[in-house]
Amino acid sequence: MRRWSWLLAILIAAGCGGGGGADPDGADAVEDPAPDAVDDAVDDVLEEEVWDPPPAAEDWSRDILSTGLVVDLATLEATATIVLAASDGTAASFEADGLSVTSVDAPGGPLDFSVVDGRLDVGVPSDGSDPVIVVDYSFTEQSNYDGLLPGGYTFIWPYFCGNLFPCHSDPTDGLTFTLDLENVPTEMTAVFPDSIPADAPSYQIGWSVAEYTEHVLGVTDAGTTLSVWYLPGGESEALAGTASLLAGFDWYEDTLGPYPFGDRAGSVAVEWGAGAYGGMEHHPYWHVSTLAMDDEYTHLHEAAHGWIGGGVRIACWEDFVLSEGTVTYLATRALGQAAGPARELALWSSHDSQLNTIVSGPGDHVAWPDSCGEVDILADLYTNVPYLKGAFFYRAVAAEIGADTLDGILRLFFETYGGQAAGMQDMLDMIQAESGFDPTDLASGWLRSLGRPDA
Ligand SMILES: [Zn+2]
Repeated sequence: MRRWSWLLAILIAAGCGGGGGADPDGADAVEDPAPDAVDDAVDDVLEEEVWDPPPAAEDWSRDILSTGLVVDLATLEATATIVLAASDGTAASFEADGLSVTSVDAPGGPLDFSVVDGRLDVGVPSDGSDPVIVVDYSFTEQSNYDGLLPGGYTFIWPYFCGNLFPCHSDPTDGLTFTLDLENVPTEMTAVFPDSIPADAPSYQIGWSVAEYTEHVLGVTDAGTTLSVWYLPGGESEALAGTASLLAGFDWYEDTLGPYPFGDRAGSVAVEWGAGAYGGMEHHPYWHVSTLAMDDEYTHLHEAAHGWIGGGVRIACWEDFVLSEGTVTYLATRALGQAAGPARELALWSSHDSQLNTIVSGPGDHVAWPDSCGEVDILADLYTNVPYLKGAFFYRAVAAEIGADTLDGILRLFFETYGGQAAGMQDMLDMIQAESGFDPTDLASGWLRSLGRPDA
């Protein structure tokens, strides 16, 4: 855009010089340039300014800074306005498995692009600033927890964002979002954030469209308004499940620091289907399956991901325990803070028997593999093991250094790594640096071994 304005200015100047550059009285009259010279000058400018974007090529190294999505729910056509970090590179690649890309443009003109094996490659001009590219595309409904689902909600964790928008599913690449949904059916309510204002993993953005009723739970001491959105017939479960959410969220803000994703947040009921229990950390409006809507722990668990998992992203999928283990520990503690120590003890005892069942059967595995970028998170690591062994690791650390000291370390961890990606080793290092206690043996027993070290 800027480049074309500049060209226009030159063309206008050339036109003026040719016709009216002379002083009215003719004293300082400038001789009109020959018409051929003007034509040559214009040709030169046009030649210099012709839009010549680089060819599409593969480059996964480009950092995505932000993605603005406008989605038409009636047609499933969408526009993604993507800002990349400045780079010397002249290409960028995105996951786009489920997208039909119709055009890719920069403000200055159309860009060269290709879609190969579900990968969108774009040629990106490099002029020293953060390039903006605009992708117009359409997408389709999915059926296997891998995109927009028939229930009107999205589910893209861990690596299905490419069925919804051009993206990097690697959680290391954090970005901010804006989201606008058009043509929401009139009898429905769409619950989604206008923006995710702090860096988040790609899987964090989400929406749900259904017949919602919003119940405002209250405002935390730090000023965050919390709500729960429930489906027809779901009020009593929603109110029971969120009984501790306001107090628990207050405790998170007080213990860990300011909530990073805006001044409104809450739980949204979603009809995940038979047998699908749990929630998904779509902060600031995280999803909770209707089966879990009456479970206080699930709401507190998803809420805690605002700080760990979302607020601090995991550096490798192998660091899944940093997200889920930390959050399981925090949510268990938050229930104790909000509803009393007896509830917390009962929850620990439930975790305990679940873990015993796992370690005595064929499903046991190591919670924290010693690699990075080599596991398939769904096939290799997505069980209750990282959640439970992770939580018991923290409980064992708390027994050594005190739960309050560990709270302070978790706060420092969020202050240090908020908006960035971090690994479980960073947590171990911080525990040792701040408390003097070396947690390596506890990590070996709980996170790097089969079974449980306290058995
Ligand atoms: Zn979780």
